Amino acid sequence: QKKIHLINRPKGTPTHDDFKVVEAPIDSPEQGEVLIRTKYISVDPYLRGRMNEGKSYVEPFKLDEVISSAVIGQVEESKSDRFSKGDVVLGALGWQEYSVVKEDAIRKVDHHQAPASAYLSVLGMTGLTAYFGLLEIGKPQEGETVVVSGAAGAVGSVVGQIAKIKGARVVGIAGSDEKISYLKDELGFDAAINYKTQDVPKALEEACPNGIDVYFENVGGEIGDAVFPLLNNFARIPVCGAISSYNNVDQDLGPRVQGHLIKTSSLMQGFTVGNYSSRFGEGAKELAGWLSEGKLKYEETVTEGFDHTIDAFLDLFKGANLGKAIVKVDEI
Ligand code: NDP
Repeated sequence: QKKIHLINRPKGTPTHDDFKVVEAPIDSPEQGEVLIRTKYISVDPYLRGRMNEGKSYVEPFKLDEVISSAVIGQVEESKSDRFSKGDVVLGALGWQEYSVVKEDAIRKVDHHQAPASAYLSVLGMTGLTAYFGLLEIGKPQEGETVVVSGAAGAVGSVVGQIAKIKGARVVGIAGSDEKISYLKDELGFDAAINYKTQDVPKALEEACPNGIDVYFENVGGEIGDAVFPLLNNFARIPVCGAISSYNNVDQDLGPRVQGHLIKTSSLMQGFTVGNYSSRFGEGAKELAGWLSEGKLKYEETVTEGFDHTIDAFLDLFKGANLGKAIVKVDEI
């Protein structure tokens, strides 16, 4: 089987040279373990942080070892009472074609209720990030204005739709005209701004005549900076991500937001989705309900083939994905 190792800590934007595909034997499960065949691999911006050395909320990847992320697989062989051959499971598994894991490291997903890949996107980590970050920190109220950056991505697209469900006016910021049309025409955003072709501060002012009550931050940098002067009193800013700086070699500049936060008594709070792990069941249930009622839509950009996993990861930083970026290794 093939496995993908990290062989260099990337300097700046990662390239293929930072990874190596290696051949390895397929292990056999022992008592309490299962052998899983990889079906779908989640590629995520946060993995870039794990490629650096240093302290963070998750351990850095080790050099010359397999990279891991959320994976959907199917049980090939089980030496566990809890799993049978054919079960579809989710776990934090390696970028490899087969994995042997302890039964505690995986959980079954119902791929008849929703397509299996949805457990990596709208019903999985990115959907839950949107749900808890927006509702617990952003707390959008009816009639308020919510701005979300990275709006056409996995987290951002769900944030905007939940804000609409809660009766807010929603403005998205994203990086292509196709994404802007998707946000407005498919997802019902009230306005959307292409940060690559438009003057963001000016466009935001036009799109937010009543100011901004919630800014869901996914990208940081100049896009984030453009939002702060428009904050209303008691605005809330869930800080979810800052992808514009993940490949910076030097420290990022700013944001110099203190004045704006003081003037408006606004609340800015970073978070990781793991903070809400005890409530994932509740979040997933509500997201699934909105999905089945047709109130929530989701998109996936699926890259076919294990051999293209690295491309799919690198594409995140080029904005190639609409919705969740997923690698499909094999049919279920
Ligand atoms: P996305 O599906 O949004 O994919 C990344 C997107 O980021 C790209 O499609 C691209 O869209 C945009 N992007 C890339 N480079 C830049 C740049 N330099 N400036 C502005 N936008 C850029 O990924 P996710 O939804 O998985 O993640 C979104 C954010 O949320 C990330 O910052 C991620 O780290 C964070 N996150 C945080 C979690 C937490 O627990 N706190 C959990 C999950 C995600 P475009 O075409 O618009 O540029």
